[in-house]
Formats: sequence, structure tokens, C-alpha cells
Amino acid sequence: MALHVYKFGGTSVGSVAAIGSVIRIVQSATPANQIAIVVSAMSGVTDALLRGAHTAAAGDGATYLSIAQDLRLRHQITAQELIASEAERDTLEVETDRLLGEFTTLCHSIHVLGELTPRALDAISALGERLNAPLVAAALRAQGQAAEAIDAARLIATDDRFGDASPLFDLTRHQVQTELRPLLDAHTVPVITGFLGATISGATTTLGRGGSDYSAAIIGAALDADEVIFYKEVDGVLTADPRVVPGARVVHRIAYDEIGELAYFGAKVLHPKTIQPLVDRNIPVHFKNTFNPEFPGTVVMRRGESGNGRIKAVTAIRSLSMITVAGRGMLGVPGIAARTFTTVARLHASVLMISQASSEQSICFVIPSTFADEVRAALEAEFANEIARRDIDGVFLQDQAVIVTVVGAGIRTTPGIAGRIFAALGDHAINIHAIALGSSECSISLVVDANDADEAVRAIHPLTTTTATETVQLV
Ligand code: ASP
Ligand code: MG
Repeated sequence: MALHVYKFGGTSVGSVAAIGSVIRIVQSATPANQIAIVVSAMSGVTDALLRGAHTAAAGDGATYLSIAQDLRLRHQITAQELIASEAERDTLEVETDRLLGEFTTLCHSIHVLGELTPRALDAISALGERLNAPLVAAALRAQGQAAEAIDAARLIATDDRFGDASPLFDLTRHQVQTELRPLLDAHTVPVITGFLGATISGATTTLGRGGSDYSAAIIGAALDADEVIFYKEVDGVLTADPRVVPGARVVHRIAYDEIGELAYFGAKVLHPKTIQPLVDRNIPVHFKNTFNPEFPGTVVMRRGESGNGRIKAVTAIRSLSMITVAGRGMLGVPGIAARTFTTVARLHASVLMISQASSEQSICFVIPSTFADEVRAALEAEFANEIARRDIDGVFLQDQAVIVTVVGAGIRTTPGIAGRIFAALGDHAINIHAIALGSSECSISLVVDANDADEAVRAIHPLTTTTATETVQLV
């Protein structure tokens, strides 16, 4: 017997058809297994709730009312399609009305006060999940599957950083075990609200936008689950962005740190922080497609188990600028790098990549383009004396830069891989402006012109090797 946690995002529970797929996935699970599911709000609902709050704060007393109407209708229609029992539907409707009543009351006071606190915002944005979990639970029951909606305020204890709360793991673990074990043992599926938690004094908090993934990881870790499956709208982690590379394939096995690198370099995968509770306990993470559940998807696991020395994926992060501080007078002068990055940090610009020539005659780094002019001006001011003395030639800005990152554990230490990457780019006459090795030993990053970015990704993509010899062991 295994214990699995399934997480369904907004699109996976955003329509009658989607909830239908969710029900089939739960029904087709091995009967002996215990299953807990974590759900997001229906797609678009969190945004609508937030819009209600913000318009109310801005003096608009009508928009939140019509949002409440729309949300009532959407949940009601979905319930009608999925739930045959009138009694179940009535109970659900009472709950929906209660939650939307809370929404309009909160928005009303925000409107009157003209003030929106982070605490009120959390109470409002958490309503989307609170509306949806009872609906999904009732839809499961309508198909004969024992299920019960659980409000995560009873499970996930957090600090009081509203809008971006952090879980208190020990208390959470205790609450999760106490609340969920009896249900799981009775083979009742808990349908848990993602995204939200509560402070010790009971105030609703949220874990940040997109936080339902984190909820699933926290609950999976607290339950010592055998596996956590994130159901998305794609078949798994891909070798490249399919809009750039039509032949992109699914990577069936990938390591936790490779996922981290992909997330950092712009691929739409889970944020590393999100899966950390699972990594800590070595609980396998699985990505699957709600709308293609037979497809094996991507399994994320420890490094050695996922294959070393192969290129898994290539990704590009765009809208960047490269800044170079250069000059012969920098040679052997301590402190230039420190002053450069202190200046950058003061402006709160995050640095994505750094490279310094060993001759010490230049330092170059890559930042988001939105900071470029400001950073250049600040560096020119910082080094005004050095520039006047001509120790530093100047601060040069190259706009329109893109970092292309090649991800694969062990690729840096596997002879020949870097050579093949450079040869592929050379064959396409793509100029490389800078090179850096990734932060976690499993990536190689290159800076190219924005105009060359797509072609660079396509040139490197044939070097990815993933599916050919892999067979996926389904747990
Ligand atoms: N519903 C929340 C959001 O849209 C949380 C989530 O979907 O993960 O941010
Ligand atoms: Mg979402």
C-alpha cells in the first residue's frame, strides 16, 4: 500500500471537463493506495477575487458585487453538471453563498475604509480554494468515491507574513497527521484547499501566488507520502520550449537540482523552494498531465538515479542586458568587483550570471534589462575617479542579451559536451558573448544576442538525449 498526494492546479479543476478528468484519475488509482488531493481555485478565480478587493479599495463599490455574482454562477453551473443529488447541491450552495457573503462583506469594509491590508487580502484571495475544494469533494462523492473537503487552515500552520507566509513545519506535521490519517485509513480522499494556511491565532494566510504547489509539497512531506504527483496541463518537463523547438520532447527522469536550474533559467517548472520539503525527505516528485493521464510524465529524483552526463534540456532567459566594466588599470587592483556588485545590489537588481576574464581587465555580468540604464549610471558614478584616470575605460552596456542555459547533471565534467555545444553554435555562426558554469554544477550558460536566441536553442537541442533508452518505472 502506498500513500500518494495529487495536486491539481487551476486549469485542472477549472471546468466540468477538467474536474471529470480529476475524478477519473482518482478512480483509476490502485484501490489499495491511499490518496490525498490538493486543489487550487478554479482558473482565474484568484485573480477575480483580488480584482474585487483592489477595485473596492480604489473606491469602486460595484465591481466586487458583480464579481461575486459571476463566481456564484460559475460554481453553481459546474456543480449542476457534476452532482446529481439535489441535497448535495443544496449543501454546497449554502457553503458557496456563505463564502461569497464573506467576500462581499470584506470588500464592503475595504470600500468604506478605503484601505486594503495584506491580512484582508489573504482572507479574500484564499476564498477561491475554499469555494473549490467542497465542489471537487462533492463531485467525487457523486461518482461513489468517499471524499471530504478539508480547509488547510486546519493543517498548515504558518507565520504571519501575509501574502507570503512560511509554514511552521513541526506544528503542521502534527496537524496533518491528526487530521488526515483517520480519513486516509478509512479510504476517504481528503480534498485539501491549496494556497492557504493559518497563523497560530487562526488568521488566514497564503503562501504566495501559485502557492498550491507548495501546499502539496508541505502536506506530502508531513504525511511521509510515497510520492507527490503534480498534475498540470502539459505532459511533463520538456527538453525545450515547444514554441521555439517544435520537436521538444518530455524528459522522463530528471534530478532535483536539474529542476532547480531549469526553474532559475526561466523554464515553467516548479520553483525549487516549492519542492524542497520533498527533496529533504527524498520523496519522489512526479509531473503528469491531467488531460493525458496515461502518459508517464516526468519523475524527479536524486541525482545519481536520474542519469548523469547527458544534456537534458536547453532553455533561454530573455529581456536581459550585459554590463561590462573594463579597463587595463583594473589589473591587480583589489575591490573593483566588490564595488561593482555592491552598487548593483544597492539598486536591488539581481545578477543572473557573472564572468571575469583571468587577465582581470574586465568584469561582465547579466541583469534584467529593466535595471540596465540605472545600473550603468550608478557604476559610472561609483568609478568616476577611475574613469577620469583612465584606469577604467568605461561601463559598457549590451542590451538585448539572452542567456541560453544547457542543463544536465555532470555535463560540466563530461569531456566533449562543452565542445559539442560550441561546435553546434559555430555551425550556425552564432556569436557567444560570455560563458558561465551554473550555480549547481549541472548547467552551462552562454550569453548570445536576442536575435540569435531561438536559433541557438534550436542548434543545441539535437544534443539533448532523454527518451531513447529510458523506461520509466511507475510507482
Ligand atoms: N489560486 C492561487 C493562485 O492563483 C494558488 C495556486 O493556484 O497555486 O495563485
Ligand atoms: Mg495557479
